[in-house]
Amino acid sequence: MSGTAPVAPTGAGGAGPRRPVRAAIGLGANLGDAAGRLREAFDRIDAIADTRVLARSGLWRSAPIEARGPDFHNAVAIVETRLDAFSLLEALRRIEDDAGRERPYRNAPRTLDLDLLLYGDARIDAPPRLVVPHPRMAGRAFVLRPLLEVAPDATIPGIGPAAGQVDALAGQRADPV
Ligand code: AMP
Repeated sequence: MSGTAPVAPTGAGGAGPRRPVRAAIGLGANLGDAAGRLREAFDRIDAIADTRVLARSGLWRSAPIEARGPDFHNAVAIVETRLDAFSLLEALRRIEDDAGRERPYRNAPRTLDLDLLLYGDARIDAPPRLVVPHPRMAGRAFVLRPLLEVAPDATIPGIGPAAGQVDALAGQRADPV
C-alpha cells in the first residue's frame, strides 16, 4: 500500500476505505415536521461525499420504543459509499446536528436520528462509537419493515435474513404513512 493512502481504523474488521460498499441507514424523527425532516435527510445523505442514495423507503409511523414523545416517522436509505464506516457515521452525525438535534438526556425526543444499520457484510465492534450491524435493529419492526421494502434480501451479519426476523415483531406497531 502506498504511504499516502488513508489509514484504516484498526480493530474494526472490514471498516477501512475500499471499493463502493452498500450500506443501510435508518432514519427516524418524532418532533416538529418529522416527515419533512426525513425527506430532507434523504437529500442530505445523497449529498455526502463519495456516497449516493440507491433507494429510499416510504415513510413509516411507529410508536416510541425506549423513547418519549409523539409517534416516530421512520425510513431506510440504501446507499453506495466509498467512505469507511466511521467516516460515514461522522457524516450522518453532522446531518443530525444540522437538523438541530439536542441530546438533553438519553432517548430524548429527537428532531432527527440517523443510524448506520448495515455496512456491506461487515461486523464492526467498536463500542460505544460504532457497532454494526446496529445492535437493536433485528428487534425493531420500524427498522425491518422499511428495510425490507427497499432490500427484501437484506441479511443481518451474525443473525441471518432480515425477512426471517420480522414475523416475531408483529406486536410492534409500524405502519406505512
Ligand atoms: P443515538 O442516541 O442512537 O443517536 O446514539 C448515537 C451514539 O451511538 C453515537 O455516540 C454513536 O457513535 C453510537 N453508535 C454506535 N453504533 C452506532 C450505529 N451503528 N449507528 C449510529 N450510532 C451508533
